[in-house]
Amino acid sequence: MHTSDVTCPSCFEVFSVPAPSPDECPCDVDYDCEVCCRPLRISFEEEDGWVIGEAYGLGD
Ligand SMILES: [Zn+2]
Repeated sequence: MHTSDVTCPSCFEVFSVPAPSPDECPCDVDYDCEVCCRPLRISFEEEDGWVIGEAYGLGD
């Protein structure tokens, strides 16, 4: 399993999250920021065999 770096939409800190396997993408997961602990969602997409995560706030 590899990880994906995401930027928290609340505190803008970057942290790593465990990424799903490419064949499970695209998918969205609920997560809590490891820095500020606010809830967020991460949209994972497969791109050239790599899984890219993009975090966004629940209110967006
Ligand atoms: Zn945060």
